Amino acid sequence: MTQARQIVSPELGSIFATGTAGAPHPTRGGAALHCSLPRLPVLPAMPREPAVVQVAVPRPLRRLFDYATTSTPPPAGARVRVPFGGASVVGVVVGERDVSQHRLKFVQDVLDDEPLLPPDLLALAGWLADYYHHPIGDVFATLLPVKARRGAPARAGEDPFWHAVEGDESAVLRAPRQREALMRLRQAGGARASNLRGLGIEKRHLLALETKNLVRRRAETSPPPTKGQDAARRPNPAQAAAIKAITASLYTAAVHLLDGVTSSGKTEVYMQVIAEVVRAGGQALVLVPEIALTPQTVARFQARFGAVAALHSAASDRERFDTWLKCRNGIHQVLIGTRSAVLAPFARLGLIVVDEEHDGSFKQTEGLRYSARDVAVKRGRMLGVPVVLGSATPSMESLENVRSLRYARHRLLERAGGARLPVLRVLDIRGVRLDRGFSPALHAAIARHLGSGNQVLVFINRRGYAPVLLCGRCGWRARCDHCDANMAFHRPMRRLRCHQCGAWRKTPPRCPACDSEELTLLGTGTQRVEEALRERHPDVPLHRVDRDTTRSVRRLGENLESLRDGGQAILVGTQMLAKGHHLPAVTLVAVIDADSGFLAPDFRAPERTAQLIVQVAGRAGRAERPGEVIVQSFDPQNANLQALVRSGYHGFVNSEREARAAAGMPPFGALAVVRAQSKVPDSGRVLLGKAADVLANAQVEVLGPAPAAVARRADFHRWQLLVMAPRRGRLHRALRRLEQIAPQVPGVSWNIDVDPLEAL
Ligand code: ADP
Ligand code: ZN
Ligand code: ZN
Repeated sequence: MTQARQIVSPELGSIFATGTAGAPHPTRGGAALHCSLPRLPVLPAMPREPAVVQVAVPRPLRRLFDYATTSTPPPAGARVRVPFGGASVVGVVVGERDVSQHRLKFVQDVLDDEPLLPPDLLALAGWLADYYHHPIGDVFATLLPVKARRGAPARAGEDPFWHAVEGDESAVLRAPRQREALMRLRQAGGARASNLRGLGIEKRHLLALETKNLVRRRAETSPPPTKGQDAARRPNPAQAAAIKAITASLYTAAVHLLDGVTSSGKTEVYMQVIAEVVRAGGQALVLVPEIALTPQTVARFQARFGAVAALHSAASDRERFDTWLKCRNGIHQVLIGTRSAVLAPFARLGLIVVDEEHDGSFKQTEGLRYSARDVAVKRGRMLGVPVVLGSATPSMESLENVRSLRYARHRLLERAGGARLPVLRVLDIRGVRLDRGFSPALHAAIARHLGSGNQVLVFINRRGYAPVLLCGRCGWRARCDHCDANMAFHRPMRRLRCHQCGAWRKTPPRCPACDSEELTLLGTGTQRVEEALRERHPDVPLHRVDRDTTRSVRRLGENLESLRDGGQAILVGTQMLAKGHHLPAVTLVAVIDADSGFLAPDFRAPERTAQLIVQVAGRAGRAERPGEVIVQSFDPQNANLQALVRSGYHGFVNSEREARAAAGMPPFGALAVVRAQSKVPDSGRVLLGKAADVLANAQVEVLGPAPAAVARRADFHRWQLLVMAPRRGRLHRALRRLEQIAPQVPGVSWNIDVDPLEAL
């Protein structure tokens, strides 16, 4: 019988054991290219007791289940169909046991002969369950693509490579869409079928083009071109130093923070290191924030590397599973993806890049609440491969890891194209009469920039027209029936909308409480800003970018692309504008309201606000047209704001880190939030009271139970408990105890959020 061995990280203990240990990583040492996966030792074919395997079943349960099997036991990482609670479910074998318990149920079907999940992902699953205190069954459900979860065979479909060829283009003169598809395919230097959607190309147009002999497809078995048409730029000295250091650390578990201002050439650094990895036969994973995974991003990598794979939300379940399998089989060399791509399997992963590592979208806020950035670092450690975290505004966590020498930092202080970074200026608006959020001075500055034929970006992190509808006589406010929240007024439909639960409601013509007609709209959102600017500049093209206008990320990219060449224009938008897009013709960035961010009570709010301001400021400017950034404030002496203006993002971090340290908040202490929700007002509090009792002797600081910042959302009453400890180990021991005791109150669901984005 095989001996059970631990496969989870030793420092955190284990929650399961299995018969196979993490295989040595093939790319370490650089030689091996094989991608066969290790099997369990084969048991002798003699009459014997049924073998027993441990299976993770797709249920939110914090334990594994034993099943008997008469045939050769399936290897760890294989899927099996097993009976569970009267149903037949697809589970994952995580190991073998030599304890034969009484009257086990039998495995019904073995779905994979070879492990679907390689050993390193099994180990990662164990770590995720452990670190995030999340049910192991649910961890596997998160790890597997939908198709895999449903038991689809692990065979990747054919994924041909489409490419343009020289031909008679008069054949598409009258087919603008085909012409467009041809142009895009040509620009991208060809594309895999699975990538077409990401590039905004429809397959039917390619099929039409194929009959006109303008495009061809190459079967997948023939290798795709490993080089695109775009040549590497000659790195400047700062880039060269970063490339050298990162390249020197290939095959080791080093973590690099690439701390470079916007447009300083970070992506160029990633690409040159990736080229090195690919040359050596390894695979590279690039994680980008949700909003940054645009056709432009994919096309840029495609142009450099010929074929890249992308895991984007537009892909179908089949396409996702295919891409996933091809990463596992070592076919894809470069994968670009959002958060969940960090959980994809690889045969020879050699590098992980996390671009915009500070971005909040890397943290999953439901289910398995993992941080893709932190998981990337963990994976790098487990596999012995380097991780590169890049940002113009690194998270305080990462900067602290630089201070303690856990991460190496490389700085890129200048923009690659020679453009200057814009200058930040605070506009004191105390005592100033505002027009829909604008001070007269700001209006004048906007008119000045537009007057010289330039573009202006107005940033306000609130969508809708106005956040509050108020009765001027009795103080009544429009509230959501289902949430503890005001309803925002939306102009186009003249309706009220709850931004918590999404509910719509008619706008009452008069106050429902006192019948007065004095209903006023309070505050300013993107729609109101748009209205004010359209009134003043009716002839200037205006683009509004927020969640209400931008259904498709692709459209956003196209709109912004059209602005690159210059000409008067106004952009109004939320944080969607602060990410990824370079807008060289913008010369003025106006931040309508910095105060609500800097003064918000959550511990991460100042950091997030500083990041947003710096990021949005970084969109602007080019060499011959230096930009200007104006930040309106009712609190111009605010220490954070002052630090940011005087000494930039790192100046802000230096002042803010003292506040964090004094409060024992991350990165100076470990934090978790236990949240409970129930339709019964008080039940969540009762449950968390029990949880607090469990934690009372665990040497952690416990705050609460307290109502959440939005105490009721979509009819659920929400309570929370803050758990803090100066050291991680202590926090995890306490939470493990909570997991084991698992207090229950009927009708209450609860969860643990480790390293939460917000503590409110
Ligand atoms: P970041 O990722 O830091 O925002 P990018 O890598 O996108 O920066 O670079 C910004 C622009 O500068 C891009 O157009 C890129 O092609 C160009 N660039 C980057 N590095 C160089 C270089 N060494 N020489 C010339 N142009 C460069
Ligand atoms: Zn009233
Ligand atoms: Zn609501």
